[in-house]
Amino acid sequence: MPTIVALVSLMAAVVATVTGVMVLRRRRTSPLAWPLALMLLGASEWATARALLTVARSSEALTLALHHAVFPGVAVVVASAFWYFVVLSGRRLSRRAALLLCVHPALLLLTLATNAWHGAFLQVEQVDLRHDLAVGPLYWVHTAYSYGLLLVGLGLSLRAMVQAVPGHRHVYVVSALGATVPLVGNVLTTVIAATTENLHLTPVFFLISAAVWWWVERYRPLSRVVPVSTRQVLEALTDAVLVLDPTGRLLDVNPAARALLRRPDGTGPDDRAIGTPWRDHVGPEFTDALGDGASGLLTTPSGTVLDVRVTRMADAAGRPVGTVVVLRDVTELERLRAELAHQASRDALTGVHNRRSLEQALADAVDVARATDAPLSVALMDLDHFKSVNDTHGHAVGDRVLVDVARALLGSVISGGTVARIGGEEFVLLLPGLTSAEAVGRADLARTRCAEVRVPVRGGDVQVTISVGVAQLVPGGTPESLLRAADRAMYEAKASGRDRVVAAPEPAPLP
Ligand code: GH3
Ligand code: MG
Ligand code: MG
Repeated sequence: MPTIVALVSLMAAVVATVTGVMVLRRRRTSPLAWPLALMLLGASEWATARALLTVARSSEALTLALHHAVFPGVAVVVASAFWYFVVLSGRRLSRRAALLLCVHPALLLLTLATNAWHGAFLQVEQVDLRHDLAVGPLYWVHTAYSYGLLLVGLGLSLRAMVQAVPGHRHVYVVSALGATVPLVGNVLTTVIAATTENLHLTPVFFLISAAVWWWVERYRPLSRVVPVSTRQVLEALTDAVLVLDPTGRLLDVNPAARALLRRPDGTGPDDRAIGTPWRDHVGPEFTDALGDGASGLLTTPSGTVLDVRVTRMADAAGRPVGTVVVLRDVTELERLRAELAHQASRDALTGVHNRRSLEQALADAVDVARATDAPLSVALMDLDHFKSVNDTHGHAVGDRVLVDVARALLGSVISGGTVARIGGEEFVLLLPGLTSAEAVGRADLARTRCAEVRVPVRGGDVQVTISVGVAQLVPGGTPESLLRAADRAMYEAKASGRDRVVAAPEPAPLP
């Protein structure tokens, strides 16, 4: 058994040395090369001493010397593993930290050199033909420091994992797993070694770690590229992006935001604005609109319409860590939207409101009338014998008549009133604030104006008359009951000779 352990250890030492030298050839391109190579060379020294220990057991002096020889390798492995984690987590090992890392190996060498005198690190006792090892207090100090340093390194790497862009976290998970191999291996072999002499394979396990960690090297540059590319995306975005801390101080402003928020005098959020309250760098329209942290549309004094998206950021524990404000110039989009909304509410032929728009306006007017107790009337009108206009002069002439009638109606409606074409040649005047009697006056004016319409055709002008029904909203009335009452009155106007206005005889009945 000791021979096999020795052979495995020796082979591991050779592989570690060769791999260490190979890794070092990448030192110009990879900042991980030096710590990994050092770790492999340290593991090689450690494994060699271990290999020799398993076979050289006769002399107490040699055994003690070989036991001593194990620890420089251990110290180098521990320090370089920590260095590896520092680099992996995106930092550089400062000169001061490097010097501090050297303190442990130096003190260890000093302790080993003076161990024969104080025996506070190791003692070898001969029991029959065997040399048993007894460890002293300084050994435990060394062991605690080594584990502590590795755990700190692992902690750095895990923190980098949490902060990494999702999709790149596996790099840190894999390297953390790589680190646990020798840790677990060391604990296991320490337990086994208590029963099986000199079965220390920890340096062999470090070979596995090194292989895993070297594999990680392929991904490390990618992980570091991601924050850079994210930055560049932010710079290239045409949307303005502002990042604020929870107290409202500017943390980041992309070029689009700098351009958008630049004031006429040329001032605005620049590099010096970072860390200062964002309110100091934007106009009052922004502070007013964004003060309550809501998303929505905002119009600047220059007429630019901005779509504002406010996203609160929280950490894993739900604590607020800041706010991202994205501003997009939607002026043109809003103009188109308003134009489309206008078109959707208008009648294509005459340009007055269409039926859908009237229904909305009527519902709103009924709500207002109920709330304010103000009167509300409608006048519903239908062109008389319009079919004969079409039949005699053609549909195109009929259309021209409809357009001119609509114009005449627009000229006779009160301010705040609405003219709508609700059917082929049926129109409605919505007359908020007018009683039935006042509305009859308006409707009669409209009737006169329509009668004055002249559409020239070959051999003369086309003239039309209208029949109008007027109704006023009664308590408990609805938009539908109001229109129905006006419609009935209009039919009465038709029946009683056309070209006249008839008011609904009594308050519009409840539906
Ligand atoms: P009345 O006095 O009883 O209302 O007689 P009328 O001929 O007007 O009868 P009615 O209201 O039933 O006829 C509606 C006519 O309106 C039928 C159709 O030819 C015409 N019309 C409907 N929409 C349009 C349109 O968009 N353009 C044109 N030119 N004519 C239309
Ligand atoms: Mg009709
Ligand atoms: Mg008609």
